[in-house]
Amino acid sequence: MRGRDVIPGCTQTGSKAPKQWVQEVAPTHLEKGKGCRVWDVDGNEYVDYPMALGPVILGHNYPAVREAVARQLQDGTMFSMPHPLQVEVAELIVDSVPCAEMVRFGKNGNDATTLAAKLARAHTDRNVIATQGYHGWPDIWTAATEMDRGVPDAVGRMTESFEYDNIESLETIFEDNPGEVAAVVTTPMNLQKPTDDFLERVRELAREEGALLVFDEVLTGFRYALGGAQEYFDVEPDIACFAKGMANGFPISAIAGREDVMRLLERDDVYFSETYAGEAMSLAAAKACIETIREEDVVDHLWRQGETLIEGYNDIAAEFGLSDYTTCEGFGPRSSIQFYDTDGEMNRLAKSLFMQECLQRGILFSGSQLPSYSHDDETVEHTLAVYREAMAELADAIDAGDIESRLNGPPAGTTLRQRTGEHD
Ligand code: PMP
Repeated sequence: MRGRDVIPGCTQTGSKAPKQWVQEVAPTHLEKGKGCRVWDVDGNEYVDYPMALGPVILGHNYPAVREAVARQLQDGTMFSMPHPLQVEVAELIVDSVPCAEMVRFGKNGNDATTLAAKLARAHTDRNVIATQGYHGWPDIWTAATEMDRGVPDAVGRMTESFEYDNIESLETIFEDNPGEVAAVVTTPMNLQKPTDDFLERVRELAREEGALLVFDEVLTGFRYALGGAQEYFDVEPDIACFAKGMANGFPISAIAGREDVMRLLERDDVYFSETYAGEAMSLAAAKACIETIREEDVVDHLWRQGETLIEGYNDIAAEFGLSDYTTCEGFGPRSSIQFYDTDGEMNRLAKSLFMQECLQRGILFSGSQLPSYSHDDETVEHTLAVYREAMAELADAIDAGDIESRLNGPPAGTTLRQRTGEHD
C-alpha cells in the first residue's frame, strides 16, 4: 500500500485505519459515495454502515446539501469578516437544542469538547474535569486513557474518570476533589440507556457541587432527536457539544449552551479562535442538513431502520444458537455488533470472519451501524439476508474450531474506544 510510505498509519482517523479492517479483504480507500452506498478505488460497491463514523446522517452526496454547498462555492468560502450564514445556523441550533442560548462554531468535535472544559474552568475558577466517554485526541481527554504518552503528568492530574451509569463513581470524584471540579463532561448515552435516573442525578450532583454539566453530543446530536439526547431524555446540560450529524459530513462543530457561560468568550482573557471556524461552505451544509432533519422524517427513519437491523441481527444470532457469542447492542440511531469469546472477552477473530463474509457480499461492516436517511427498506432487508449468510459461516467455523484459518488476511484490530470499553 503506497500510503504507508508517506502517511503514518495510513489514515487521519483511528477508526478508519486499514488495521481496523480484515486486511487484504477490506478495501483501504473509498472514493465515491451516493445515498447509503460507497465505492472503493477498484470500483467495488458496498452498502455503508459506519457512514464515515456518523457524520453522514442523510446519505452520501445528499441533494439538498450538495446543492446548498455548490451554490455557496460560486460565491466563495472564506472571507475576512464573518459570513451571515453563521447567524442563521446559530439561530437554527438555538431553536432546536434545549440548552442552546448561544453558539460558537469549530471544525472538529474535539474543538467543542476542549473548549467546553476551558469555559467550565474559566466560569468556576476550578481545574478538575470529571469525564466519561470519548471526547477526542487532546491531552485533557487522552490523559485519562492508556494512550497518554506525550501528555504531561500535570494535565493527567486534573482529569478524573468516572463510569457511565455509575453515580457513585462520580460522587467519589467530588469527594476526593472538594471544591475543585469545574465540569462533568459526559456522553449522555452510549450503547446502553441510563438507568435509575442516572442523567438526572448527574445533573443534580453537578448543580449541587457548583460544577458545570457538559453533554458531549458529538455522536448523539441531531440523531436521537433533533435536539439531541438532551431532548430525548429531557435532561438539560449547561453546555453541549455537536459535530457529527449536523452538516452531513462537512467539517463543522458547535458548542452551545448557557448565555452567561458562552459570553465568557467575549472577555479578552478567554481565548478561542480558529481561521477555518465559520467557513461558509460547511455553514451552508449545516443549514441544509439541520433544516432537512427538522422538516422531514429523518430521526424516526433512523430509529426505525436501526431497530429493524438490531432485532433482525439478534434473531439471526438466536437462530444459529450464537446469542452468547454475538449481540447487536444499542438503539436504532446507533448500534454496535459485538463478538465475545467464551470468557466474555471481545473476540476479534469471530468479528473478523463475520466482517470478511459481509465485505465479500458488498456490506461495509465494521460492527458499527449508523443508519442514514438514505438506508431504505430494501437495503436493510438485503443486509439482513447477508448477515444470515455470514452467521452461517461463523457458526460453521465455531463448530469446526477453525475461525482463524478461514480468514483471508490479518484480523481487524481494536480502536481506542473499543479498548476503553465503548466498543465502536
Ligand atoms: N466526542 C464524541 C462522542 C465522538 O464520537 C467524537 C468522535 N469520534 C469526538 C468527541 C471527537 O470528535 P472529532 O474526531 O471530530 O474531533
